[in-house]
Parts: sequence; C-alpha cells; structure tokens
Amino acid sequence: MVYLRQGDQELAHRYLEATHRYLDLYSRFLGPYAYSKFAAVESFWETGYGMPSFTLLGPKVMRLPFILHTSYPHEILHNWWGNGVYVDSTCGNWSEGLTAYLANHLHQERQGKGWRYRRAQLQQYTLYVAQHGKERPLSGFQARHS
Ligand SMILES: [Zn+2]
Repeated sequence: MVYLRQGDQELAHRYLEATHRYLDLYSRFLGPYAYSKFAAVESFWETGYGMPSFTLLGPKVMRLPFILHTSYPHEILHNWWGNGVYVDSTCGNWSEGLTAYLANHLHQERQGKGWRYRRAQLQQYTLYVAQHGKERPLSGFQARHS
C-alpha cells in the first residue's frame, strides 16, 4: 500500500513495484514476510522510520530518486530484523548491522561497488573512534544518530 498526502499515481506505482520486489527478495533470503501488508506512508516529518508493516517517509525524502534503492529497502528489511526478530536494547542493537548489510551493502554489491561501501563504512567508523577517543563494542551500539 502507498499513502500519499496528495495523489501521485506515478510515485505510488514506483513504491508499489519496489515494495513487491524487495518483499520477494527478502522473503527468498530470510523466509516469509510476517505481516499481511506493507505500507509506504508519507509523513509530514522529514524522516524515515521503519515500523512493523509500514514505513513513515517525509515528503522530500520520499521523492528522492535514490531512496527506492537505499532507505526504502532498508526500512522494508527491518520487518525481519528489528520488527520481526526483536532487539533486546540492553544487549545492543544488532538489527542495524544486519539490515545495513542486506539492504545498503547488497545494493552496492550488486552494482560491483560493495568494496567501496565497505571501505566507506570502515573509514566512517575509524573517524568516529578517533573523534570519540575509544572503540565501542557492538553491544554498546543502540542507534544511529547521524
Ligand atoms: Zn535501520
């Protein structure tokens, strides 16, 4: 399903097609989708939130052409990791790593750029550690804020 604040059949069609494509892909990788529907919902906030069986995307975010291949499959995949298999927040947030790997990294890998994605992630982590003065164990990760 696609819920837009103003009608736009072309945009709705792109989201419906992407929804089917990614639900099929992740179902083949991870097992059946657990919910009876998935909805892309246009929110008035400029954010991207993955909820059980739906995602909230801001008006500008939703119309960025690359979102259908980056954040959107990421939010769909959270229905398996995070909203399907839940995270125990006292033990860290492992779902972001698996979701980023099978959504963001996989998309880059399919374009032959997986190594660039991995290198960029390692560079960002190295800069993060240098800025904050210490490494953190995976169990210390709760959420991404930037
Ligand atoms: Zn995420």
